[in-house]
Amino acid sequence: MTEGTSTTVAAHTAIAPVEPPERLLMGPGPSNPHPSVQRAASAPVLGHLDPAYLAILAETAKMLRQVFGTRNALTLAVPGTGFSGMEASLCNLLEPGDALLVGAAGFFGAKMAEIGARCGAHVTTVTGEWGTPIHVNALRAAARDLGRVKVIAVVLAETSTGVRQPPEDIAALARDLSALLVVDAVTALGGMPIPVDELELDAVYSCTQKCLGALPGLSPITLSERAVRAIEQRKQPVQSWYLDLLALQRYWNPPHAYHHTSNVSLVYALHTALRLMLDEGLDARYARHALHGEALRAGAAALGMTPLAAPEHQLPMLAALQFPAGVTDGTGLRRALLDEDGIEIGGGLGDYAARVWRVGVMGYNAERRNILHLLGAFERLLPRFGHTFTPGAGLSAAEAVYAAQDSQV
Ligand SMILES: *Cc1c(COP(=O)(O)O)cnc(C)c1O
Repeated sequence: MTEGTSTTVAAHTAIAPVEPPERLLMGPGPSNPHPSVQRAASAPVLGHLDPAYLAILAETAKMLRQVFGTRNALTLAVPGTGFSGMEASLCNLLEPGDALLVGAAGFFGAKMAEIGARCGAHVTTVTGEWGTPIHVNALRAAARDLGRVKVIAVVLAETSTGVRQPPEDIAALARDLSALLVVDAVTALGGMPIPVDELELDAVYSCTQKCLGALPGLSPITLSERAVRAIEQRKQPVQSWYLDLLALQRYWNPPHAYHHTSNVSLVYALHTALRLMLDEGLDARYARHALHGEALRAGAAALGMTPLAAPEHQLPMLAALQFPAGVTDGTGLRRALLDEDGIEIGGGLGDYAARVWRVGVMGYNAERRNILHLLGAFERLLPRFGHTFTPGAGLSAAEAVYAAQDSQV
């Protein structure tokens, strides 16, 4: 380097470097990634057509097939967060005038209906009460009036309510009607089984920052052969050029045709998170989410916070906890948790904005130390916000769940 030039840039601004505070992310996502996932994202950037990178992509797709329980050729990660997968599924499968039947008992189900309408579909929404799943008979009855239903869409893990939607009967209904079934697994993937091939689900999408424990910015997706055929048989091209799944597929698989610049660093992180998941074992991972979710809910219940979902419909990885008696300032408590304890939890959505907190037990964060840290912080803050209880009640209820588990091993 010649004298007088320097790679050190003088500071011309008063703007400090980005230095985010440390947080324990126990909301509905994002969750904290495993440190090695975070590190993987800082590996050197490769060109999106570099053979070394294409090998990483191929491995990523292979691991995605394992966690989705599928052999589907079209299995990849759409650039964009979970909603990009929702948008891609609906805008690739629906053409203007097609009938879309949505089962919606929460915020995210309603979004599927909204996106379907923007695709020009004729949308019928079967709305269920928040806190309960959609009953297959309600969908069947609605379908009777519709003629040919092209697509049925439901949310497997409704993150606004904490409800698990059983997919089996709805999958059978879709087969009966020769309709394609789109399933939102944004919160579910990585925290509970999603047997895509066994249930013959047609389009299933997720995100990377919830139970997969990778970084936000990608949406893993898988499409059945039936779904791919439906796209191939479209009368009009997919309205979204960027989210055209067949074009994305031609990039992920041979001939690796350029479509857009791949989110290389996010794929490194996803690859790492998937490898960690498979190393842990899928069953062990689902059991871990179930155990720590149960401990959280036991502790919360002992502190007066009951989940919105009935126990038989409750998701392992997310609980919508109703405010305990006496508490009205839910936002204030969340803020105190963040400022004083460095813990993030979520607020409620829709009519439940001022009635529930949403607590996630996702991915790397599904660990005993985090559950006890959060319950301890709740115990300290709840009296200040108007709810009193026997001190230690939440922590002992959670510990009892762990003790029962230990005695089984
Ligand atoms: C989080 C979530 C989404 C949206 O995902 P983003 O990554 O925020 O785009 C969609 N559906 C469900 C069920 C979710 O929980």
